[in-house]
Amino acid sequence: MSSDQSLTNEALFERAQRVIPGGVNSPVRAFRSVGGTPYFVAEASGPFTYDVEGRRYIDYVQSYGPGICGHAHPAVVEAVRRAAGRGTSYGAPTRDEVLMAEEMCARVAGLEMVRLTNSGTEAVMSAVRLARGVTGRPTVVKFAGCYHGHSDSLLVAGGSGVAQQGLAGSEGVTAGAVADTIVAPYNVVPELDETVAVVCVEPVAANMGLVAPEPGFLQGLRDACDAVGALLLFDEVITGFRLCRGGAAEWFGVRPDIWCFGKVIGGGLPVGAFGASTEIMSGLAPLGGVYQAGTLSGNPLATAAGLAVLGLLDDDAYVRLESTAAALQEGLESAFASAGVTAVVPRVGPLLGLFFTEDAPRDFDEARKAADNGRYPPFFHGMLRRGVAFAPGAYEAIFPSLAHTDAEIEATVAAAAATASEMERGPEG
Ligand SMILES: *Cc1c(COP(=O)(O)O)cnc(C)c1O
Repeated sequence: MSSDQSLTNEALFERAQRVIPGGVNSPVRAFRSVGGTPYFVAEASGPFTYDVEGRRYIDYVQSYGPGICGHAHPAVVEAVRRAAGRGTSYGAPTRDEVLMAEEMCARVAGLEMVRLTNSGTEAVMSAVRLARGVTGRPTVVKFAGCYHGHSDSLLVAGGSGVAQQGLAGSEGVTAGAVADTIVAPYNVVPELDETVAVVCVEPVAANMGLVAPEPGFLQGLRDACDAVGALLLFDEVITGFRLCRGGAAEWFGVRPDIWCFGKVIGGGLPVGAFGASTEIMSGLAPLGGVYQAGTLSGNPLATAAGLAVLGLLDDDAYVRLESTAAALQEGLESAFASAGVTAVVPRVGPLLGLFFTEDAPRDFDEARKAADNGRYPPFFHGMLRRGVAFAPGAYEAIFPSLAHTDAEIEATVAAAAATASEMERGPEG
């Protein structure tokens, strides 16, 4: 695309590393766990990203979830363009915030009020504060391998980038900050007591690869919470409005007390949201004593994009999304099987994972063994060389979008077949 040598991935990464820690603004992007130089994206459209060297990738990162309609969907672009022309932040309420909250509550049974934030991290952090505020209890239960953003009290045994760094948590988080956080293994209903304010769970764990909840796990959490008066929080930052109209709560038929959202509902703009019944949400300022705020919260660009995305997510969209994911799952599984590569491609609706093991992991210990067995980096680079971008780390999910057509799925499967036989025989084979 450019003969300007300053615009190679290599050159940009070098410059980036001088002025940005690790060259990136979120650790996974640095390619540390797969090795090599990250590609710097110049632009993206539908299922494709294009790097600064003009190379095209079929993209399954999709910004780790926000790209459910693919990149730069015309309806989203137009909505954002029009919103930008009207001003980008006012510090006063807007019509679109109301429409956004109404649309979310209409889709999710039991969700009566929402508050918008600027990220999933903020959403979960605020929701936990609210849960502690309304219950008057201190303890938070989370599950190993579940990622709930990078707020202090939830940054223990997180998945995603925390896991890739091989960290149990993070330096800089005091013992006090996590003293009231209990970590339990995923897919096992923990013993709760009456100090527990809230049990936080990813209803489908999508930050340790993809780990599905076993039958009865989510209902077991519901029952255990009810028995001690604890609140159940579904972190639906990935699953919300993605699995189906009503997200994981509808998909699994289990209703939490508090929901957290993000990713999909911003169409690629910075956003998050948390919500619950009117009773619980009334604990929040200005109605109640739990403080939470944001200069840019509910900002007009994010709500314009979010409304455009939700407008595209009709029943037909969910059917198409799932059939695309199913075709990719089948294609990848048969590509690995033909090449003699042991792999499993777990799928929940439109969400996929990939582990180079016999059986799909059920918890973080199993996921970690699978993710760290050395098979993922050669797969990742083989695919990238063939123009297919999976996430640069084995702990991330695969995100097919509405923009991926049969042609992209076929090309992806062909690339996987070639990569798999290369993994089996070596590059010369
Ligand atoms: C991405 C993610 C978050 C954090 O959202 P950010 O917008 O990155 O702060 C929280 N929970 C889950 C389940 C996520 O996948």
